Amino acid sequence: MAKEMYILPNLKYGYADLEPYISEEQLRIHHNKHHQAYVTNVNSILQMMDKARADGTDFDYKANAKALAFNLGGHVLHDYFWWEMIPANNSNKEPVGELSEVIKEDFENFERFKKEFTQVALSVEGSGWAALSFCKGTKRLGIMQIEKHNVNIIPSFPILMVLDVWEHAYYIDYKNERGKFIDAFWNIVDWEKIDKHFKQIQSAQKA
Ligand code: MN
Repeated sequence: MAKEMYILPNLKYGYADLEPYISEEQLRIHHNKHHQAYVTNVNSILQMMDKARADGTDFDYKANAKALAFNLGGHVLHDYFWWEMIPANNSNKEPVGELSEVIKEDFENFERFKKEFTQVALSVEGSGWAALSFCKGTKRLGIMQIEKHNVNIIPSFPILMVLDVWEHAYYIDYKNERGKFIDAFWNIVDWEKIDKHFKQIQSAQKA
């Protein structure tokens, strides 16, 4: 039976709906070109692997594992990124629900959290992401950096929120000014959705 392939997820808003914080042109290219490329690459790699396995031939296992992780990581992280944003008029602008409580417990207040997350995102070297994660063992939130799409993540820590700070995420709107893009991002976060996701993560049992 043929296995399923990855597909580019549809956005839940129009390309122009995150303006003025992310322009239509920027969002369209980011989703339709950059994210699409990761999806296309993952599928090509999987097809190549399926074929090699069926034929009993080898491929470069090390290089392939790296390319697969890079492209699949790119796909999964972009999926989170689109999902957690919302047009500015509908954003609460601040965390809600249980997530809001845990942010206060861990960071004292939202402003402090915002400052730390911003600094982590600003200081990503080269291309990468800032991610908010949650350790179910200690019930602590953690802010981590992801290099490119796939290095330095702690695999068992579920992701609550990510911010793409690859230059391809903001070069049309903000040129090289990553800080301006990060400031803009805070206006279009869907905190209600992130809080729902947080609840699901907490209730999910470890297998
Ligand atoms: Mn991106």
